This record gives sequence, C-alpha cells and structure tokens, in this order.
Amino acid sequence: MTTKTQTHKHAVVIGAGPAGLMAAEMLSNAGMSVTVCDHKPSVGRKFLMAGKSGLNLTKVEPAGVFLNAFTDAKGPLAPIISALDGDAVQEWAKGLGQEVFTGSTGRVFPTAMKASPLLRAWLVRLSEAGVQVNTRWRWTGWDDTKLVFETPDGTQVLQPDVTVLAMGGASWARLGSTGEWAKVLAADTPFAPFAPANAGIAMDWSSHMEAHFGTALKGIALKSGPYRSRGEALISRQGFEGGGIYSVSRGVREGHPLMLDLLPDQTVDALAKKLDQPRGKMSMANFMRKALKLDPVKIAVLQEMARPLPNDNKALAKLLKALPIKHAGLRPMDQAISTAGGVKFDAVDETLMLRNRPGVFVAGEMLDWEAPTGGYLISACLATGRWAGQHAAAWAQKA
Ligand SMILES: Cc1cc2nc3c(=O)[nH]c(=O)nc-3n(C[C@H](O)[C@H](O)[C@H](O)COP(=O)(O)OP(=O)(O)OC[C@H]3O[C@@H](n4cnc5c(N)ncnc54)[C@H](O)[C@@H]3O)c2cc1C
Repeated sequence: MTTKTQTHKHAVVIGAGPAGLMAAEMLSNAGMSVTVCDHKPSVGRKFLMAGKSGLNLTKVEPAGVFLNAFTDAKGPLAPIISALDGDAVQEWAKGLGQEVFTGSTGRVFPTAMKASPLLRAWLVRLSEAGVQVNTRWRWTGWDDTKLVFETPDGTQVLQPDVTVLAMGGASWARLGSTGEWAKVLAADTPFAPFAPANAGIAMDWSSHMEAHFGTALKGIALKSGPYRSRGEALISRQGFEGGGIYSVSRGVREGHPLMLDLLPDQTVDALAKKLDQPRGKMSMANFMRKALKLDPVKIAVLQEMARPLPNDNKALAKLLKALPIKHAGLRPMDQAISTAGGVKFDAVDETLMLRNRPGVFVAGEMLDWEAPTGGYLISACLATGRWAGQHAAAWAQKA
C-alpha cells in the first residue's frame, strides 16, 4: 500500500487521452487533488479508436532502436522514454488487469486487443484515487494565470497550483484532438506547425483500379527519401493506406518521390532472366503472373503507374523493383493517425514545464515529436504524461 502525503495542492490536467490520464495518476499518487478537464462528453476517445484495429501499446526492441523511431526528438525524449520503456508499459497494462502479448514483429497488444477494458479499469482506479473528471469543459486559454473553460454551466475559471496540458495533436478532430489549443499557445510559445504524420497517400485512380478497391498489395517494400518500409499497402477509392504506407508518408511530406518495390526478395537480374523466357501467345499480364508469380493487384498497380510497359525485359525488371508512384499527395491531416509539429522542445525545460509559464507542463502528442506506427505513439504519450505529472507534482510541492 502506498502512503500519500496530503498536500491539499490542486492540479488540473487538460485533456483526457493517454498522456493526460497518466499525468493525472502521477499527480494523484503524489497526494495532490486532481481535476481532469476534457471538452468531449466522454474521455479517451482517440485511445478507444486506436483499439479498434488492435491497440498497439508498445514495441519490444532494443532501447536504441526504439528511440531512433523518434528521429529529431530522440534527444529530449531519451530520459523520458527510458523511465517508462516498453517493459514498463507492459507492466502498467498488466497492473490494470490487461494481459498482453507480443506479435512476431515485436508489437505489443492487450490480449483483448481493444482499448475499452483497459480504459475502464484505468478510470475506475483514478476515480477510486479521488481524481475528478469534468467532461464538456473546453479550455479556451488563460486569464492572466487562471485557466478559462467553456462549460455547459457557462464560463468557469480555475487557478490550480500546477497544470498539465495534454490536448493531443490535430487529427481526427471529431474524437477531441482539434489542435485549437495552438491558437492560444502559438502566440507566445515556440511552436512547429502541425503536419500529417502516418498519413495515407491520395491517388487519382483510373477506372481500371476499381476492381481492386478493398484489396492489398502484400509483401512489398516502399521507399521515400530516407524512409523505408516492408509490408502491405491497402488500396481504397481514395488511395493507399496502412502501416507500410504510413512509415514512408513522412518522406512524401518532405517532398521525396515514392518508390514501390513489387518483388523485394528478387533482384533485377533474376527478374529479367525470368522475363526472358519464351512468352508464347500469353498476354503480358498473364506471363508476369505465371513467370514472376505477380498477383493481379500488383499487375494492376504496375499497369496503372507505368502503362505502356517497356518492351525491354531489363527495363521492365527495373520498374518492378522501383516503380515511381504518381500520387496526389498526402490524405488530409484530419485523417492522419497522428500529427507532427506542436510545442517545440525549446519551449519546455527538461521537466516538460513551459519556460514562459512556470507551473504549466506539456505532455503527449501536443509536443513536437513524431514516430511511425508500431506502438511508439502511445508509449511516448504515456511516458511524457508520466514525466510531466511527476515533475509537476514535485514542482508544486516546492512552490
Ligand atoms: C485510427 C487510429 C489508430 C491508432 N492506433 C494506434 C496504435 O495502435 N498505437 C499507438 O501507439 N497509437 C495509435 N494511434 C495514435 C494514438 O491514439 C495517439 O497518438 C494518442 O491517443 C495521443 O494521446 P494524447 O493523450 O497526446 O492525445 P489524445 O488521445 O488526442 O487526447 C487529447 C484529449 O484532449 C482533449 N482536448 C483537446 N482540446 C481540448 C480543449 N481545448 N479543452 C479540453 N479538452 C481538450 C480531447 O478531447 C482528447 O480527449 C492511433 C490513432 C488513430 C487515429
């Protein structure tokens, strides 16, 4: 049993996603009275959505590899993530009664796959600890040092000892992360503009592709600038979606060409040799299907991107290995899994406290970091929430 020192100090956490709830738990564990405010009618909506296709909580891989996923932000995130690493995230989930399993690629999921049992157990634990949750409370900014909220009962003002801001990024606005907080913060805080991260690729498909909507390119490799992935790309009326695409979407955002390798396990020479076999009366599509074991959806995408196909077999083999994708840019930011940009790490100190607003800490996707899908996002939200919550409590005790 943990003994709490009652300080009667009050903390407000704004935003009840994984980062905010973790911060609230840390503040409560430190003996503070905690109010969580969220503008939606219920909490953790994006977290619940994340669980719809399997809640990927974290990833089992060496610490250095895990951190490298955060590219430019790995410096400031290093101590924060090593304080709540993948093992600790798994223990946290188990502590909430959720068994977890690790898939073949190291991705960790709750056995239940969805987020709702975990979220339910977490909210019960927070409620039992006395954490108060105010839904339909929309933070609109500060009045001097007071927090101002629009609520069903009109404008409410709170003046806590410490505040943790955890209002998420700027995608899937209907789940709560509208990014509107940026209008307040960007005025006087170093801020990187939002951009789609882990986004789909928009395609202006010809009618030939309609038969393939809902299918996937499997066993492919993708490359855009320095970003590479192996896996799948789902084909929809709007374009390409899925983990393999999301990992390289940053390259597209940065202006690099997108290249598709339809047969990543074979070399250009091996493919050219197979193509040199006599074709007889077979159509080219049929020949490629038989000689190269190229499935119809791969053939359709090849034709869509490179029709008329070259007659020279070596040139065709090269295309199969590096097919330039003529796309229409990224899908809209609101449909992206996450967003890049946010409060710059220069704006906060090593405890995640805003340099220009003592006593106000920032956590989760609000901060300017990005990472591919694979469990990195929720892991970093939990880790920054924990770090901000613990340091906010320590700051309040000292103040
Ligand atoms: C479809 C989908 C699938 C995903 N799958 C995964 C996955 O499997 N693994 C993974 O790691 N990540 C996944 N993610 C990403 C992950 O869900 C997010 O990175 C994570 O939820 C961000 O946590 P957060 O606490 O920073 O913000 P959020 O979860 O976005 O929470 C922010 C909260 O702040 C509230 N808020 C915003 N503005 C205000 C305001 N002005 N006043 C009051 N409250 C406000 C919002 O209502 C919201 O509840 C997925 C995302 C999507 C969309």
